[in-house]
Amino acid sequence: MCGKGTALVMTEAEMKELLIDRWDEILEFLRTQFNITKVSFNTWLKNLKVKEVKDDLVLLYSSDPSIGSNLSFIKNKYGAFIKNAIEEILDEEINVDIVSDETSSQQPARRPEQPSVSSSSLLGLKLNPDYTFDNFVVSGSNSLVHAAALKVAEAPGEYYNPLYIYGDPGLGKTHLMHSIAHFILENTPSLKIMYVTSEVFMNELVEAIRHGSVAPADFREKYRNIDVLLIDDIQFIIGKDRTQEEFFHTFNYLYEAKKQIVISSDKPPRDFNNLEERLRSRFECGLTVDLTAPDFETKMAILQKKLEIKEYESNIKLNIDDEVLSYIAQSITTNIRSLEGALTKLIALSRIKRTPINMELAEEALRDIIFPNQKKTISPDYIIDVVCEHFSVPVEEITSQKRDKYIVIPRQISMYLSRRYTNLSTIELEKVFNRDHATILHGISSVEKKIKTDDEISKTVETITKKLNI
Ligand code: ADP
Ligand code: MG
Repeated sequence: MCGKGTALVMTEAEMKELLIDRWDEILEFLRTQFNITKVSFNTWLKNLKVKEVKDDLVLLYSSDPSIGSNLSFIKNKYGAFIKNAIEEILDEEINVDIVSDETSSQQPARRPEQPSVSSSSLLGLKLNPDYTFDNFVVSGSNSLVHAAALKVAEAPGEYYNPLYIYGDPGLGKTHLMHSIAHFILENTPSLKIMYVTSEVFMNELVEAIRHGSVAPADFREKYRNIDVLLIDDIQFIIGKDRTQEEFFHTFNYLYEAKKQIVISSDKPPRDFNNLEERLRSRFECGLTVDLTAPDFETKMAILQKKLEIKEYESNIKLNIDDEVLSYIAQSITTNIRSLEGALTKLIALSRIKRTPINMELAEEALRDIIFPNQKKTISPDYIIDVVCEHFSVPVEEITSQKRDKYIVIPRQISMYLSRRYTNLSTIELEKVFNRDHATILHGISSVEKKIKTDDEISKTVETITKKLNI
């Protein structure tokens, strides 16, 4: 992109006209020259417009009304880049300010810090490669949470600390946490990120204590020598005195060192009766945001996105009518996980039966996912999904013939929970799990026994049952 070289003779009005004229080009230059990710560009910069030119100041505004509270973030992070892109066109030094459409502050933009680059570093649990900002559908009901998560990912430790995301199961908390981690790994790889569930935190602490140390130094070292802590499903340690205490110290240490903390939970801090007051006030000192159930349009957009991913992964065009997607979106009211489960089930059914995907097949697929007259009945597919997510194992291995321990336990727990919480008979479960009668019975009774004798299994089953939210 080259400048015009005529700036000296231009009036303010002419400069404004020129900028408006070539605005798309400036934005494109901005995006490509500074390697701005698609999601950051679309969220923060795409809607910027020229408001006026006064002396050497170019005043911009955002046509996105929801951007208001993020203006200072945009200025700090992108101000210098925007200035540079505009100077390319005007061929003259200018200052840039961004205002919401109504106000008109005149703070010059600060130069953003340049991230130092070294090897990337993720500690804790694995990330789901599909849980990225690019795959997260943004709509009215979740746009605030999305913007907060992106801001934290772009400038860890600088804005909301902690960021506390809460909402019912299956609404996208884990997806957003993984998105933050992916984003930082890609864009600021020098930072050390730890992603864990609160159970992992607890289990590691218990393990550290069991190995003898009252103040588990290695454990502390591990959780303090990081830049970003993402702790998922904090509800599982609330009320567990020793773990809560240890988390409080970890939290304080990181917070005081200005390290970013992101917490997810099924409830806001105020709704926990047994949350220590000092921890509650810590949780509330950053930003608390909630994910609510998606509306119909959002559900449709999510289904389309998931379909796109499935088509891309299988390299097969699936051809599902909007009518069928709309039927799924209408039938499944709250949980996005079930929405995706329904789609997966429908595709699987069409493969097994070798029939095209139509309304009739959709009704069949959804029959044991939605039971309109029963309040909360769940399907074995849903149970398997939740169990696999809990153990981080692939869903298809549950029905495979593999007999390694890492898959046998999740498989048996899935059998046990399916027997307990669905209406299916053992014969029907044989089909679901691709196993004979005796194996199903053995699986169920083995878990029943372990619940009585093995503390760890008993706790795991209890946690998964909570996750099922029956
Ligand atoms: P939670 O952690 O709140 O229980 P998850 O993050 O595991 O929920 O989300 C459940 C499923 O819904 C995941 O497959 C996730 O990708 C999907 N999902 C949730 N919200 C969205 C969204 N806005 N766009 C795309 N997929 C979503
Ligand atoms: Mg989750």
